[in-house]
Amino acid sequence: MSLKPTPVSEKTAQYLNDLFSSEDDFLRNLRQEAAETGMPSISIGGVQGAFLQVMLRAMRARFVLEIGSLAGYSAITMARALPKRGKVVCMEYNPDYAAFIRRKADEAGLGDKIEIYVGDAKETLVNYIPQFGFDFVFIDADKPSYSEYLDLVYPLTRQGGIIAGDNALAWGFVAEDNPEFEPRNVKAIKDFNLALRNHQGLSACFVPIGDGMAMGVKL
Ligand code: SAM
Repeated sequence: MSLKPTPVSEKTAQYLNDLFSSEDDFLRNLRQEAAETGMPSISIGGVQGAFLQVMLRAMRARFVLEIGSLAGYSAITMARALPKRGKVVCMEYNPDYAAFIRRKADEAGLGDKIEIYVGDAKETLVNYIPQFGFDFVFIDADKPSYSEYLDLVYPLTRQGGIIAGDNALAWGFVAEDNPEFEPRNVKAIKDFNLALRNHQGLSACFVPIGDGMAMGVKL
């Protein structure tokens, strides 16, 4: 037992990746193809993917909402952990990225499990009335909107469902008062972490995986 987290060196990260990654050839190729088409390399890693899959399977999740889907790496990873009639609803701003996701979801044989809404997720969410409560919501889009997303997705999440925000370590700057890297985004993540932690309707925790995930289960 320890009160102090063990630092993860490059070598340890590689070891974990070798042992616990959910990434297969399809996802490796997707990552490469996305980079070749000029998309930024900012999707989750395979160790995070395996964590999400275990969590979704453990909670027998059927409905997932993802805010910010890029090339569909995390959406496809999560869709693979859902049962037959499960669904990942993706909200993605960029129409070219959305078209890429559509193609890759079909190639993966997950076309019927992945639904995509194109546009600013804040606008989509305001008018969005799903026919079900989400089991899991993954927030991974523009950082300045994270706290707003939390407010918008809370009513759409079922009791016992989980809301998570990625990059909760803010690229290592989360504890800095005057971060030299992306100060506006770091501040937004700090605000989100605090809002999640203090939310009366959530029981929150922090998972130091990848760039960190802050999570809360709806009470
Ligand atoms: N979740 C993806 C994965 O791990 O494979 C990575 C998502 S990437 C970090 C962030 C995505 O959010 C980008 O594709 C970007 O276009 C999208 N995004 C940014 N602002 C957005 C907004 N207001 N509404 C919807 N999507 C947005």
